[in-house]
Amino acid sequence: MAAKNFDMIVIGAGPGGYVSAIRGAQLGLNVAVIERENLGGICLNWGCIPTKALLRSSEVFHLMHRAKEFGLSAEGIGYDLDAVVKRSRGVSKQMEGGVKHLLKKNKVTVIMGEATVPAKGKVSVKTDKGTEELTAMNIVLATGARARNLPGLEADGDRVWSYRHALVPPHQPKKLLVIGSGAIGIEFASFYNTLGADTTVVEVMDRVLPVEDADISAFAKKQFVKQGMKILEKSVVKQLDRSKDKVTAHIETGGKIVKEDFDTVISAVGIVGNVEGLGLEALGVKIDRTHVVTDEFCRTGIDGLYAIGDIAGAPWLAHKASHEGVMVADLIAGKHAHPVKPESIAGCTYCHPQVASVGYTEAKAKELGYTVKIGKFPFIGNGKAVALGEPEGMIKTVFDAKTGELLGAHMVGAEVTELIQGYVIGRQLETTEEDLMNTVFPHPTLSEMMHESVLDAYDRVIHM
Ligand SMILES: Cc1cc2nc3c(=O)[nH]c(=O)nc-3n(C[C@H](O)[C@H](O)[C@H](O)COP(=O)(O)OP(=O)(O)OC[C@H]3O[C@@H](n4cnc5c(N)ncnc54)[C@H](O)[C@@H]3O)c2cc1C
Repeated sequence: MAAKNFDMIVIGAGPGGYVSAIRGAQLGLNVAVIERENLGGICLNWGCIPTKALLRSSEVFHLMHRAKEFGLSAEGIGYDLDAVVKRSRGVSKQMEGGVKHLLKKNKVTVIMGEATVPAKGKVSVKTDKGTEELTAMNIVLATGARARNLPGLEADGDRVWSYRHALVPPHQPKKLLVIGSGAIGIEFASFYNTLGADTTVVEVMDRVLPVEDADISAFAKKQFVKQGMKILEKSVVKQLDRSKDKVTAHIETGGKIVKEDFDTVISAVGIVGNVEGLGLEALGVKIDRTHVVTDEFCRTGIDGLYAIGDIAGAPWLAHKASHEGVMVADLIAGKHAHPVKPESIAGCTYCHPQVASVGYTEAKAKELGYTVKIGKFPFIGNGKAVALGEPEGMIKTVFDAKTGELLGAHMVGAEVTELIQGYVIGRQLETTEEDLMNTVFPHPTLSEMMHESVLDAYDRVIHM
C-alpha cells in the first residue's frame, strides 16, 4: 500500500503537538497528528490540569477550615481522597475530549499509535491494527518528557511515586517525603500537606523553589513551614530502603546522614525528554543530554524536521510548547514566525501560596551587569487581599535603572498565577516604568499591588 502523504506530521498530541496541528490545519495544510497514549499529552492528562484540579480540592478544604474567620460555620469537615482523585481524572477526561473535538473540527487526521522517523520525510506508526507508513515534507517532533529517575530513588508505584502515581495515589500518604522542591514537587507537597500528611521536602539547592527570586523563595518557605511542612535545604536523599509498608530515607543534611521512615516518597527530581526510539540518532539529530538541540525557530538542522515543547528543552512549560507549536506551523505555511523569548515566558507554581514570575531575578539581573531598581509591595497593604482573607504575599519588580525596562517580576500570594500575565504583556510591549506608573489599575483588585510595586521601585509608593 502506498504511504499516505501529508503536508505536516506532528508526533505527540500534547500542548505542543495538538496546538501545532490545529494551527497548521487553520493555515490550509493537510496535517496528521500521532499520539500513543492520550490526546492532550502530559499537560492535560498527567500534568498541569489534573494537578490543578487536586489543588483546588485542597484549597477548598483549607478554606472550609477557615469558615469561622469569615463568619460562617462548617462542621464535620472531611474529604474522600478517592472522590478528590475522581474529580481530577474527570477534569482531564473532559479536556481530552475537548482536544479530540478540536482536532476533528479542524480536519486534522488523528492516528493513535507509536511513531518513529525511519528516514527524512518518513514516519512509521505502530497502531493496534498494524503499521502505517506516512510521508510529509515537514515533521514536528513533540514527544514531550517524562519523570527523571535517579539511581536508587526510582519510582516503583508502591511506596515511591513519580508524579503519575501521585496523581492517582494507591494509598493515602500519612508521612510523606518529597524529593525536590521545583514546581512539581512543591505542588504535591502542598496538596498532601493540606490534606493532613506529615510532609518533609528535601531540596539539594540552598533554597526551596530554587529558580525563583531569593526573596520569593524565602517568603514561600516561611508559609510552608507555618503550614507544618518540614523543609530541608542543601540536603540530599542518598538512599531509600524499601520494605512492605515503609521506606527508610538516608538524608544527608547539615553534614551528617539522618535516617527517617516515611510511608510514601514522591520523587520529583526533574524530567527527561522522550528522545529515544524515534530513530533520531540515525537521522543525525543533535541531542544534548536528553533534549533535541534546535535553533530559535525549533529547526533541528535536518531539512523539514522540527522539535517543539519539552523534547526541545527548557523551560518545560505547556505555554512554551504551544507557542513553539504555532510558530513552527506558521513557518511551515510560509508565514512570518516569532521565536520564543525564554525570558518573557512566565512560570507559575500552584502551591499554597501561589508563586509566579517572569524575566530576571534580582540576582540574575545583577550578574548580567544591570544596575537595578527594586520595588516591593506586601499583600497586607492591599484592600482586596485583606478582604479576601489573603494578606500574606508580596510582589517584587526589577527594573533596569538606566532605561526603566522591566527586567523581571516575582510574586508570591493568592492568585498571582493570574496576575503575572499583566507584567508579561508589559514586557512584550516593551513598556517602561513610566508607562506602568501611568497605567490606571482598577480598585479594589490584587492587581493594584503590581502598580504599587512599580511605584515603590521609583520611591512613589502610596500604600506603604
Ligand atoms: C505534574 C506536572 C505538573 C505540571 N504543571 C504544569 C503547569 O502548571 N503549567 C505548565 O505550563 N506546565 C506544567 N507542567 C509541564 C507540562 O505538562 C509540559 O511542559 C507540557 O506537557 C509539554 O508539552 P509537550 O507537548 O511538549 O509534551 P507532552 O505534553 O509531554 O506531550 C507529548 C505527547 O507525545 C506522545 N508521544 C511521545 N512519544 C511518542 C511517539 N513515539 N509516538 C506517538 N506519541 C508519542 C506522548 O504520549 C505525549 O502525549 C507540568 C508537568 C507535570 C509532570
